[in-house]
Amino acid sequence: NKYYLINLFSGEEEKNIDTCKNIWKKLIKLNADRNSIVINLGGGVITDMGGFACSVFKRGLNFLNIPTTLLSMIDASIGGKTAINFFSLKNEIGLFNDSKIILIDKNYLKTLSEDEIKSGFSEILKYGLIYDINLWNLLKIIVFSKMKDEIIYKSIIRKSNIIEKDYKEKGLRKILNFGHTIGHAIESYFIYNLNKRLSHGHSIAIGMICESWISYKMKIIKKTEFEEIYNVFSILYKKIKIYNSDLYKILYFMKHDKKNKNKKIKFSLIKEIGYCLYNIEVDYELIKESLKNYLF
Ligand SMILES: [Zn+2]
Repeated sequence: NKYYLINLFSGEEEKNIDTCKNIWKKLIKLNADRNSIVINLGGGVITDMGGFACSVFKRGLNFLNIPTTLLSMIDASIGGKTAINFFSLKNEIGLFNDSKIILIDKNYLKTLSEDEIKSGFSEILKYGLIYDINLWNLLKIIVFSKMKDEIIYKSIIRKSNIIEKDYKEKGLRKILNFGHTIGHAIESYFIYNLNKRLSHGHSIAIGMICESWISYKMKIIKKTEFEEIYNVFSILYKKIKIYNSDLYKILYFMKHDKKNKNKKIKFSLIKEIGYCLYNIEVDYELIKESLKNYLF
């Protein structure tokens, strides 16, 4: 069997319709049809966008994912969410469609920078916080760079457990968005307003700190739990500074969050470590305050 390579540039800003157009043109030139299979070899951007490009090409080409970053191994490549960014909005255009196979080869971890490992580690910490207190307690004491197979395996199982119960994100799956309402907005602000990159994991780490603070202020979690969460994340992920005058830009992205309903911003918030609530409406002023509190 013949195979061909389609090379793409890396980076969240490449996850757009123009890149898809190039993929589709190449697929046409290569005479790709429904008997073809596309292998998405790369990080979250490649598995998200490759999955999307394949899903709509001739109403669906088969694809499989070989994630090469920790983030895509334990999160992006699993669960059938395919998407591209559009109009400066993250994952605005996309659909649910599963990869036929997900092949995880931990040898790829050796190719990653500390920053990339950290980016994935943030999502692993999230699984602990939303679903598995034992995992959280294990992660708290681990040296993150010595990532063990067991932790990767546990993360994949946790994510799969949640998805099996609610593939189309009607309810429970929303807990996976913990830290992402604020985190995505910060990530987007960096890409589209500052023309800089802040890793997905770092962005959602900040999101998880702010959203835990909101949860504490709304008397959903205890102060001691908030402090524990804050301490773990603030050791691993350095603080970022944002100007007061830019606050509205971050809020703009939140107003377009996919979880919103009737223009109300909905959050997934930790009730206690290992247990997460979803569809929680949060007062606009409190969101602002959480950002000011952490970012200035
Ligand atoms: Zn994420």
